[in-house]
Amino acid sequence: MSTALSGNALQFLQINTVQVNANHPDLPEQCPICHEEFDFGADDLPVQVIGVPNCSHIFGRSCLTEWFSSGNPNVSTCPMCRTQLYGEDEGEVDRQAMLRRVHEAQQALEAARQRWEAVVQAQQECDQLFQEDIQRTLEAGPEARRLLLRALEEIKNDGSVSEAGREEVGRIIAQINEAD
Ligand SMILES: [Zn+2]
Ligand SMILES: [Zn+2]
Repeated sequence: MSTALSGNALQFLQINTVQVNANHPDLPEQCPICHEEFDFGADDLPVQVIGVPNCSHIFGRSCLTEWFSSGNPNVSTCPMCRTQLYGEDEGEVDRQAMLRRVHEAQQALEAARQRWEAVVQAQQECDQLFQEDIQRTLEAGPEARRLLLRALEEIKNDGSVSEAGREEVGRIIAQINEAD
């Protein structure tokens, strides 16, 4: 049964095998998997296992790739000496680690969204309090109204206030004048 090459097997092929040439001293007469001579010009060129204790066997690359995707119970071991070449379960662990990172990112995004909503809500509450303050001041009488309008005009002409803020104040001044 042929299955997909696991992430660990692919990583092993990329990191723990190296291509060898025709006069390599350890090169066997034929590929130990397919028992055919190595074809140096094609896909089954020989590769040697490196960076693994106790195994430096040489196989045709396509045969080794096929072996790693064979679905055989010993799929993660060397076909010659049965040395464990890569972890069987790490792929699953990696996938879970990735899912965990995605979940954490989603949580961080949700927390940021909630903070943003809290900011917007605080802004709205602040606006409402401001409007209530204005209302109370207007109800306090014409002198309070005159002082309020003067204060608002100062804000409207204050260059250190943001343009949006000054526009908002201009809108409030217009509202107060309309209410006359
Ligand atoms: Zn082969
Ligand atoms: Zn081996």
